[in-house]
Amino acid sequence: MIKYVLFTIVLSISLPFLRHLMSSAHAYQLELQVAQLAVKRASVLTKALSDHIATTRQSGTQIKDDKSPVTVGDYAAQAIVNHAIKKNFPNDEIVGEEDSEDLKADASLSKQVFELIQKYQQSDKFSDVLGSLDSEEEVFKSIDYGDSQGGAQGRFWALDPIDGTKGFLRGDQYAVCLALIENGKVVLGVIGAPNLPAHIISNTESSGAIGGLYSAVKGYGSYVTDLFSADAPPALDKQRKIEMKSTTDPKKLVVCEGVEKGHSSHSEQAQIKDILGIPQDSTINLDSQVKYCVLAKGEADIYLRLPISDTYREKIWDHAAGNILITEAGGRVGDITGTPLDFSKGRFLQSQGVIAANSAIYDKVIEAVQQVKK
Ligand code: AMP
Ligand code: MG
Repeated sequence: MIKYVLFTIVLSISLPFLRHLMSSAHAYQLELQVAQLAVKRASVLTKALSDHIATTRQSGTQIKDDKSPVTVGDYAAQAIVNHAIKKNFPNDEIVGEEDSEDLKADASLSKQVFELIQKYQQSDKFSDVLGSLDSEEEVFKSIDYGDSQGGAQGRFWALDPIDGTKGFLRGDQYAVCLALIENGKVVLGVIGAPNLPAHIISNTESSGAIGGLYSAVKGYGSYVTDLFSADAPPALDKQRKIEMKSTTDPKKLVVCEGVEKGHSSHSEQAQIKDILGIPQDSTINLDSQVKYCVLAKGEADIYLRLPISDTYREKIWDHAAGNILITEAGGRVGDITGTPLDFSKGRFLQSQGVIAANSAIYDKVIEAVQQVKK
């Protein structure tokens, strides 16, 4: 009897501790730490460029169609993130959006990128983990680590250094997106959303602090934490866990779509909302993968990305991190037929479009998409 009582006491004391250990003891501790810190550094650097764009736009001094801020940011962010991955995981491959060919041919741009990297790697305290880039040659080499073809076997990272270029150039939403893919499945995703307010209510209303660091690990859920704090992010179980809603009432459903009419069919998306009985003004338009963040937080229920053309194929870096953020927050993602996205086919998805939704409404959304597409 005494033994039994003692056993119960020991168990009741140790269980919460064990549970605490389990909740942060996922298999990707170092991967997550490196990914979060690298995305943070790249986000801080690109945010400075984004703020500069916003100021020059306001003062009217921005040169029309000047794409240089995004070019500099793209190269610098990819160099930083790739370098951090290769320093910690030398055998891992990376599928990255950029390569250094054009940069190498432009001495002034190369200098600008290198100086920017130097400035930001000196201004945080993460160099122990992330390392530092000490020459232009190292920058070129690091950018070109992103040349992996991906595929079905082994593991690789997928990186979009600045997702949402168009939003970035407008001073709107963009994201730094990094995912780890193992044997064709996304197991970890980190999104830096430097311009995203804590709460998005509609196209004109938002509240809370700007910027968020969103992370998901397979089997451990999706989380958000401060993007701009000078400290390293806390363990996942100390971050805010985020979950999708299970709303099915059409009057309460909120839809996320891109801003660019050239990237998804706004007219077909309008038809889908009509079929589902969702008011057209329950739409939030955002650039980049921050749409996935807004859904994962439960601030929207449906993401519609209806293809413009039958031949366009989405790139894996445009969706990998967002994909796991949704599934780990309890939602579903697939192509326009409802088939889960397949990240094992190389640098591109072989399917058409993307539909994400809370699990309670997902099948109905796919039915509506099929009705519009037939
Ligand atoms: P979003 O901000 O949601 O409009 O998505 C931005 C991404 O759309 C970019 O990273 C591009 O890779 C991608 N993109 C470019 N052209 C197209 C297209 N024709 N259809 C779909 N996506 C595109
Ligand atoms: Mg992109």
